[in-house]
Amino acid sequence: MQKMLRKCGVILALLSAVGSAPASAETMRVTLLGTGTPILNINRFGISVLVEAGTQKLLFDAGRGVAMRLHQRQVPLRDISAVFISLLNSDHITGLPDLYATAPLPTDDGRLKTPMTLFGPDGIDNVARGIELMFKDQNRMRMLEGEVVEPATHIHAKRVEPGIVYEKEGVRVSAFLIEHGHVKPDFGYRIEYGGHAIVITDDTTYSENLVAHSKHADLMVQSVAIGSRALERAAPDYVNHFYGYLASPESAGRILSEAKPKLAVFAHISLYSRSDIPRATVDELRERVQAAYPGNFVIGEDLMTFDINDHGVTRAPYSPEVRQQEPRT
Ligand SMILES: [Zn+2]
Repeated sequence: MQKMLRKCGVILALLSAVGSAPASAETMRVTLLGTGTPILNINRFGISVLVEAGTQKLLFDAGRGVAMRLHQRQVPLRDISAVFISLLNSDHITGLPDLYATAPLPTDDGRLKTPMTLFGPDGIDNVARGIELMFKDQNRMRMLEGEVVEPATHIHAKRVEPGIVYEKEGVRVSAFLIEHGHVKPDFGYRIEYGGHAIVITDDTTYSENLVAHSKHADLMVQSVAIGSRALERAAPDYVNHFYGYLASPESAGRILSEAKPKLAVFAHISLYSRSDIPRATVDELRERVQAAYPGNFVIGEDLMTFDINDHGVTRAPYSPEVRQQEPRT
């Protein structure tokens, strides 16, 4: 047992080193801050992906718990350069008010002095104005106390259209339409830096446009939904309904087979169940994707980290225990 604990200690030390060391100039680093859905799950926080490239720290979606996961990764909230939202469902934005309210505070994680930059689909301005209104009185009081500076109480919201939406210091972000049934528009994002590309596609089923914009990425962060085979047999209408707007394991396999990323990682993982039929296991998910896709993929977990550079895509050592840890100071 002691030996095992020592081994865990080594793993955690490695993780801590990875978490705190800045990515080198030519490396893009991707951290899955949250891999969950609206369904409450203590191990899978709301969907959010951090991309660090050069001087830029970009956040893609800001689901439940995003500020906590940034704290665990030892990325000060004030360092987030911009936030990109793919669609306006709650699971993509419930972490935003926390991020907005906590980033300016006089703490180690805070002291933001500038407005938050927020990109998203039509309606993103409502989100920004709503959050500002929600905290109007607390901002007034905190400014009186000198705890918050006025510029940090604003959110610069920018409506996304397909095409290049952000270009700064060698980092380019492009948006493209993906397919999520009645929820429109819904955007995927392609991030390019140093000759490498990451594609993030939340909440989508197969679409030709998605594949066209995802070709030959170094890393593809892909959503997936699964009802177990037992659930598919017992409730085909229920299962086929959500497979109509979320990629099943087979549909995700088709997307990846055509997009051909060097490595794929699944995040935003929907595990459907019914009161009498438990949700599919991660093993069933893996087996069904493997049957549809011969390439390399990983089932993502919160705080998994990947480095992308000329040497390829590397996954940092990972233990689920890291999710329960306060970061080392
Ligand atoms: Zn979602």
